[in-house]
Amino acid sequence: MILIVLAFIGLSYYAVVWESYGPGIFEGSAQSRFSSFVAVFIFTILIAMTLWSYFACVTTDPGKVPRGWHPFPNDEEADAQFSLASYGGHPVGSNGQRVRFCRKCKAWKPERAHHDSGTGQCVLRMDHYCIWVLNCVGLLNYKMFLLFLFWTFWACALASGLLINSFIRFFQSDADLNSARPAIVFIAFVVDAAFCLSLLGFLIMHMRLVLNNCTTIEMFEKARGPPWPYSLGSRQNFKAVFGSRPWAWLLPMHSAAEKASMLDDALHEPCLQGPELTDLRGSDPMSCDV
Ligand SMILES: [Zn+2]
Repeated sequence: MILIVLAFIGLSYYAVVWESYGPGIFEGSAQSRFSSFVAVFIFTILIAMTLWSYFACVTTDPGKVPRGWHPFPNDEEADAQFSLASYGGHPVGSNGQRVRFCRKCKAWKPERAHHDSGTGQCVLRMDHYCIWVLNCVGLLNYKMFLLFLFWTFWACALASGLLINSFIRFFQSDADLNSARPAIVFIAFVVDAAFCLSLLGFLIMHMRLVLNNCTTIEMFEKARGPPWPYSLGSRQNFKAVFGSRPWAWLLPMHSAAEKASMLDDALHEPCLQGPELTDLRGSDPMSCDV
């Protein structure tokens, strides 16, 4: 899958830079050379950001539950409840609420974490398993995933805009169809335009989820719309994913302090009770076991 993604990126870069605008940097009028240079420069930046975001998402741990983590006030209580949970019982926390246990990992599972069979682990605020990045998307690589969508969208949009004249020329009577160049540019335009349109819808869906502090899994789970019980307000929900440093919002990385804060928040996510939970988790208002 990584090779397929690299092949799509390589196809676009070849069509835009090598076949279409790169040669224009060295020939024609000064204005034409400058225009070609700007097109190549901006497109190269977009491709670099796409690749950075992609490999950051592929290689970043999505947020596994730390080994030995438990939701109880002390280890003795955790050990006592562990036996109960291991044999299919329903352990209860010190506040009287049911606590979540993953029978596949044989470990405690924080609220909003889910077991990912792709990576064989429970992932904090799991969003989904993505075949394009060969990784689960969760708490710590959701920003990288969103930026991969964001930068890919703009790279595809720019490539489509830069190649549309060549695409139209492909259908004109004087087109040189004996050369491979028109075919490569034609295919690149179709691929870029298709990705651009589909990514736009995907981006809009994910930005709505980000602004509501909701994951894709939870979007399919919940049977009602807003107010979503975990929402902290649009601004705080955005910062929970992208961090509090505006200059780093478009960079696919988290500082060590951000990661520590995100992990702490996700491991202490409250088990919300009330009608929202009833709608979210079924008819049992005490159940937090998904
Ligand atoms: Zn698990």
